[in-house]
Amino acid sequence: MPGLKGKVAVITGSTSGIGKGIAECLAAEGADIMLNGFGDRSEIAELEKKLAKDHAVKVAYSAADMSKPDDIRGMIAEAQTKLGGVDLLVNNAGIQNVSPVDEFPEERWDAVIAINLSSAFHSIKAALPEMKEKGWGRIINVASAHGLTASPNKSAYVAAKHGVVGLTKAVALEVATQGITVNAICPGWVLTDLVRAQIEARAKESGQSFDEEKRALVSEKTPSQGFSTPEQIGKLAAFLCSDAADQMTGAPYSIDGGWMAQ
Ligand code: NAD
Repeated sequence: MPGLKGKVAVITGSTSGIGKGIAECLAAEGADIMLNGFGDRSEIAELEKKLAKDHAVKVAYSAADMSKPDDIRGMIAEAQTKLGGVDLLVNNAGIQNVSPVDEFPEERWDAVIAINLSSAFHSIKAALPEMKEKGWGRIINVASAHGLTASPNKSAYVAAKHGVVGLTKAVALEVATQGITVNAICPGWVLTDLVRAQIEARAKESGQSFDEEKRALVSEKTPSQGFSTPEQIGKLAAFLCSDAADQMTGAPYSIDGGWMAQ
């Protein structure tokens, strides 16, 4: 029997990239899934159908905007009414904005902090009472290598991701005796839409090809010279949801080709 049968997972930002990889891995372990994120409605409906069919699980979708606290509370409530609860909460939705701090548009700062950091606070606040009542829960916050170190021109993202790591530790301590673990995953580079946009911007600026800039981007930070995949991040998330990980809490887990070892 798959290890997460009977559990319900809410994964924010799961219509593409890392979140989608995590949704696939948790569904493969038998969890019912609440998808969330933006995108083409018919493609999202296809993803819902595919996950349900491939893994014999229930799948629902919430279009909640992670910059809006009311939407976030609505998404958790919808998971409770449509799927029967929230046992696994993965805060993954995120955006990037690359700009020197003195030129950083204020509204982009606010959006990065709201979507990458505050959304995790709102969803945890909404989902935790049920986990406490059950005496079991798993919360995974997708932070970043930028939750542990910095790069220039990403002030809002680095601030938000460091905040996510801090939030992870604080909440883990609050619920440590209650069967609930709270962890952060810190990926290095994963070739998703969020990173493709950064490579395209670099290629436009430098006049190099996409592939040349892709190689340059990964080699600047990553000793292994490689990208992690959404599936690899998903498998780490599935492990953190398993019983084998019930003493792993309050920590950031790097999956970054050695970035943090430097
Ligand atoms: P992505 O752009 O492929 O996916 C982002 C997801 O978030 C999408 O489903 C998108 O629809 C959703 N989203 C964006 N704004 C939203 C909003 N306001 N409300 C609801 N959903 C929203 O990017 P990704 O690389 O898969 O990023 C996922 C997470 O991983 C982010 O938190 C990102 O910071 C983090 N991360 C990515 C990398 C990387 O190299 N790709 C590295 C470290 C951390």
